[in-house]
Amino acid sequence: MKKLLVMMMAILAACSMLLAGCGGGEKKAAEKVMRVATEPSFAPFEFQKEGSKEFTGFDIDLIRAIGKQAGYKVEIQNMGFDALIPALTSGNIDVAIAGMSITEERKKVITFSDPYYTSGLIVMVNKDEANIKSIDDLKGKRIACQIGTTGEKKSRSIEGAKVVAFNTQSEASMELKNGGADAVINDAPVVGYYLAQGGDKVAKTVGEVMEAEEYGIAVNKKNTQLVQDINKAMAELKKNGEFDKIYKTWFGEVKK
Ligand code: GLN
Repeated sequence: MKKLLVMMMAILAACSMLLAGCGGGEKKAAEKVMRVATEPSFAPFEFQKEGSKEFTGFDIDLIRAIGKQAGYKVEIQNMGFDALIPALTSGNIDVAIAGMSITEERKKVITFSDPYYTSGLIVMVNKDEANIKSIDDLKGKRIACQIGTTGEKKSRSIEGAKVVAFNTQSEASMELKNGGADAVINDAPVVGYYLAQGGDKVAKTVGEVMEAEEYGIAVNKKNTQLVQDINKAMAELKKNGEFDKIYKTWFGEVKK
């Protein structure tokens, strides 16, 4: 009986080796896939050009370059900003890149890569607004923002403010334009881009950039290998000039 068992096990082992050998010999090892999600109403970091479903922007170029460098096939999907972290923790996606600020609160549930962009928040109002000169004038006012963002958190910290949180940044800006809100609180580089793209005909910023925030690429806490791969690839891209090239494409001169 014992002999039979040993023999069976030997046969099984031989079979599995054969099987493994077969696959490995003829085909290349399966390509690693990086399932990425983003929320594309955040130009110039992630957006879709008019009439196109394709994602474009600084974050998109960066994650594609990281994937290439680290040997991953990058697949990008669209998701609400507030759905990104739950999708990471449940394992539905591997990576979120969405101009996401590294915060202590978020770090409790997910891991961030090394920071890749320094940002901050700013107040945007309609061009003809005369009474709101800084965040201090927003008490009791109607503020539009995007759901789940640091801009929403900041808005809700203002005394008596009536905060409306939208699914996308575009809707928040639209609400201001339509007179449904007195101000928008959003990331400064995104507001800057919006104004530069013609938004300055209807809106302007007031006050200083608030809360130094840094963007990081978010990954499931358990996926330590992936964070390491991302950080290693990003460091290589910074060294070989590729990161600066991507930065220049979207922001002009290279900030050091
Ligand atoms: N940087 C902000 C945050 O992390 C906003 C990001 C966004 O709207 N895509 O909350």
